[in-house]
Amino acid sequence: MSAIASNLQAVRARIAEAAIAAGRRPEEVELLAVSKTWPVDRVIEAARAGQRAFGENYVQEGVAKALATVDLDLTWHFIGPLQSNKTRLVAENFAWVHSIERFKIAERLSAQRPPAFPALQVCVQVNVSGETSKSGCAAEEALSLCRAVSVLPRLRLRGLMAIPEATDDACAQRAAFGRLRSIYNQLRADGLPLDTLSMGMSHDLEAAVAEGATIVRVGTAIFGERRNA
Ligand SMILES: *Cc1c(COP(=O)(O)O)cnc(C)c1O
Repeated sequence: MSAIASNLQAVRARIAEAAIAAGRRPEEVELLAVSKTWPVDRVIEAARAGQRAFGENYVQEGVAKALATVDLDLTWHFIGPLQSNKTRLVAENFAWVHSIERFKIAERLSAQRPPAFPALQVCVQVNVSGETSKSGCAAEEALSLCRAVSVLPRLRLRGLMAIPEATDDACAQRAAFGRLRSIYNQLRADGLPLDTLSMGMSHDLEAAVAEGATIVRVGTAIFGERRNA
């Protein structure tokens, strides 16, 4: 078995164990393989091992890999910071965007999504770590941003995403993911039909699954340490 295949198996086992410990079914948690910085042959290797969903956070790099793998029927998720001048490429080449922080970006994505494509699936990124993090909208803005995004015609708002400040403290990890979960619950109680919590990476996926993650975004534990990160 290739290294990537055995890493994938190990990550899937971690997800399953964490889900069962939390009284959840392992199938409730989708594994997104974050292939940023890795060449497309690693993506193909992971696809051969059964992986279908891939995440990228640099636009051109992600588009190149998506185009190089069109015949493999993979699903591409954009998970990085998005500037206005790159929205068209994302709208035309990705199935999902996890990193909506501003209405203007969502509006452009909706306008630029090709009519023949299914709606672009999106998550609003929320800052759950306060001043230590610069990415994501403020928790207090999440409701109004989600309401506005949810009515854009070519987008389908699926849920929330967060990248909490990295910590080895399992309690602090749970607390940050718990904050995202509670915002998600409030939005659902408010009538938004959300079904996705994108949270958890290589070092903290167990805490994220315990707090209700439905997508975990895992790079290092599948592909290895990134050399130029
Ligand atoms: C790189 C990245 C990941 C994966 O991080 P690992 O620690 O390598 O698992 C997840 N989410 C986002 C937004 C990333 O940029």
